[in-house]
Amino acid sequence: MNIFDFTKNFPDEESCILHFKAQRDQIGVVCLKCGGKQHYWLKNKLSYECKHCGARQSLRSGTVMEHTKLSFLYWYIAMHFLTISKKSFSSSELQRQLGHKQYQPIWELANKLRDVMGKRDEIYSLSGQIELDNAFITTLIAEEQKNESLKRGAGSQKQSKVVVMTESKLVDNPHKGSKAKRVNHIKMQIINDMKADTVTNIVKEQVDSQAELTTDDSTSYKKLGEHVKSHDAQVVKPADLPKMLPWVHIAIGNVKRLLLDTHHQL
Ligand SMILES: [Zn+2]
Repeated sequence: MNIFDFTKNFPDEESCILHFKAQRDQIGVVCLKCGGKQHYWLKNKLSYECKHCGARQSLRSGTVMEHTKLSFLYWYIAMHFLTISKKSFSSSELQRQLGHKQYQPIWELANKLRDVMGKRDEIYSLSGQIELDNAFITTLIAEEQKNESLKRGAGSQKQSKVVVMTESKLVDNPHKGSKAKRVNHIKMQIINDMKADTVTNIVKEQVDSQAELTTDDSTSYKKLGEHVKSHDAQVVKPADLPKMLPWVHIAIGNVKRLLLDTHHQL
């Protein structure tokens, strides 16, 4: 569906509600209290009422839209966005398109949709506070390359350079002694070189423009500030890295351990 078809089919809140209700009716509405399947439609309350026991449930109940107050039209526009976007889909861009004042509700909407649409990993755009670093990680190489390498006396593994990014959110009431941040999402990508353009392109595609980025002061990262809200490039001694970029180093450690475990099983 292109943008013209979309606006023709869903010009307003009413049309989205009608469409959404039709979808639900087709699947069938089941009473949460007695399991009854016959319902009255209460148009003014946007709710179903069970013909058997009178229990009510809203049109949004049990759907991805449950617990939000955002309009149906918002959800439909967001779904359309998510369906047509080939690459990274940023919450701040959606917020801009919708002309919505607050970022948080739109961010939550986009995340819920990514979950239900199964697109989280492919086009998830990292946002909030992000740590970025690179590491060498042992990876297995393809069979055909392996034979070639073995002839030259190399093993069946190689060291790959990867860019690792972690997205973390501040936790309201952290338990005593635990870290005040929580990691939501981790992305890793193998890269051929550490040129500034290579790393910059990855950030451009995978990080939201409203994100706050922390890295060390490597020249590979010098252009990143142009694509995010803020970029904190810290001068750090290697020994201090786990302190300055804690999450990304925990992630790198976990991946290395995971790969080691895999090798043990082979
Ligand atoms: Zn009932």
